[in-house]
Amino acid sequence: MDIYRQLKTYFGYDRFKKGQEKLIAGILKGIDVLGIMPTGGGKSLCYQLPAVTLEGVTIVVSPLISLMKDQVDALYEMGIKAACINSTLQTSELIEITKEIKANQYKIVFVAPERLNSSSFMDMIKHIKISLVAIDEAHCISQWGHDFRPSYLEIPRFIGRFRNRPVVAAFTATATKEIIAEIKALIGLQDPLEVTTGFDRPNLFYQVTKAGNKFAYLCDYLENNFQEESGIIYCSTRKTVEALVKKLKERGISINGYHGGMQTELRQKNQEDFMFNRVRIIVATNAFGMGIDKPDVRFVIHYNMPKNMEAYYQEAGRGGRDGEESHCILMYSPSDVVKQKLMIANEEIAPEREALQYKNLQYLIDFCHTNDCLRNKILSYFGEEVISDNCGKCSNCLDQSEMVDITVESQKVLSCIYRVNQKYGVNTVIQVLRGSKNRRILEQGLNQVSTYNIMKDYSEKAIREIIMTLSAREYIHITTDKFPVLKLTSKCREVLQGKVKVYHKKDLIENKPSENKKEG
Ligand code: ADP
Ligand code: ZN
Repeated sequence: MDIYRQLKTYFGYDRFKKGQEKLIAGILKGIDVLGIMPTGGGKSLCYQLPAVTLEGVTIVVSPLISLMKDQVDALYEMGIKAACINSTLQTSELIEITKEIKANQYKIVFVAPERLNSSSFMDMIKHIKISLVAIDEAHCISQWGHDFRPSYLEIPRFIGRFRNRPVVAAFTATATKEIIAEIKALIGLQDPLEVTTGFDRPNLFYQVTKAGNKFAYLCDYLENNFQEESGIIYCSTRKTVEALVKKLKERGISINGYHGGMQTELRQKNQEDFMFNRVRIIVATNAFGMGIDKPDVRFVIHYNMPKNMEAYYQEAGRGGRDGEESHCILMYSPSDVVKQKLMIANEEIAPEREALQYKNLQYLIDFCHTNDCLRNKILSYFGEEVISDNCGKCSNCLDQSEMVDITVESQKVLSCIYRVNQKYGVNTVIQVLRGSKNRRILEQGLNQVSTYNIMKDYSEKAIREIIMTLSAREYIHITTDKFPVLKLTSKCREVLQGKVKVYHKKDLIENKPSENKKEG
């Protein structure tokens, strides 16, 4: 049977999704493959279909026990025999399944990575032919990623044991260059056929908000959008999850919490309530996530900003797996930046990784301050070429709000950074511009610089917003270390010389004083 017939017979589909055919053909030719596809892209089919065709058994390494069980059930429905081996099995079940596997009763065996090199597993696979080893969520092997699982390091050792090496197929939805390189090297893929299908999720609407009162904003959103449908609200801490659940319950909203500090049973129950639509909304930390396969999540709200674009894209990407219109809303507030920086500072990691984390965080901060298309900003993060300036489906592209010229303000900020010798961070620069009498400012003689007090009529918030905007446009570089310093980039000359104007949404610089307009 050819692969098109199989696609129809077993899976009931008429055509392949983007990338699937190439990957499947590669596997069937005996070539290692690396499939980089966004969530919902159809990665599972890429190993399930070859598994049916190939002689012997396909081993699928998967990090999530809950997901294995779902897949086994789904495959059973399609008439494909699959089993899973993980820590939830009773000894008697394990013995039974092992016996059946040895008797070639299964085409696909899902296994948790920590089991791969156990003596029982090794013993079992001696008795069967393994044609394909598929690795789901392959980025879990990378320490650079957000989902590092040490047990994934068992995979290369496992593959190394075969005298006749099976084909190895790795799949991930994560695609920064560093992570891809690490996946290839650590798993030991041999000249893999690499297929990237692109990261755009056309059915997702992206929005960034800087609501002053987040809770009020959230309630307003929930009352006016997708009132009957499912959504996820992500928070950065367990405490915020608890507090938010309590407050939203008081408003009569059908909601559950989910975080790593909950008892396992409760956490599982809350997850299932959500999956089976017994509760409409789940408020969660990033512990809720990978492998959550609910197709009809209509909105993903980030009540706090996550730590980088990678994490944001993954979490927001849990919306709209069914291809229907869904909203991804990121609620930005400067205090979340402080929180994220503290988290990085508290981690005990090598300096170069720390610097990378600050850099990745800054990219997301810039994302929150750009006036350009948000979708493009996401795609260019993943190194994807951007086609049009206006996607028509993000809060920036749809924004009708009045823009004001902030070129003069920008020049003042840039000059101030220059005058303080590019040696100070955001807060100090703001204090200098506003003419603060803070002891530190006076002690360091910063009240003597010519830009002292030249923006006294602006709020701290407005100046911060301008600085962040200038950073998003790459006129300023915020250094990536524990005490970030504002530096000027060569590009800023355009602004200082008045060759390029800078604009910003009016409402965000609401306290731009009127006398300032005269100067401009
Ligand atoms: P991923 O693991 O990449 O997030 P899945 O493998 O879970 O994606 O597939 C996402 C959805 O797409 C599933 O509902 C799956 O049944 C569906 N799907 C996969 N391949 C096809 C196809 N060729 N045609 C139509 N639907 C498909
Ligand atoms: Zn856009």
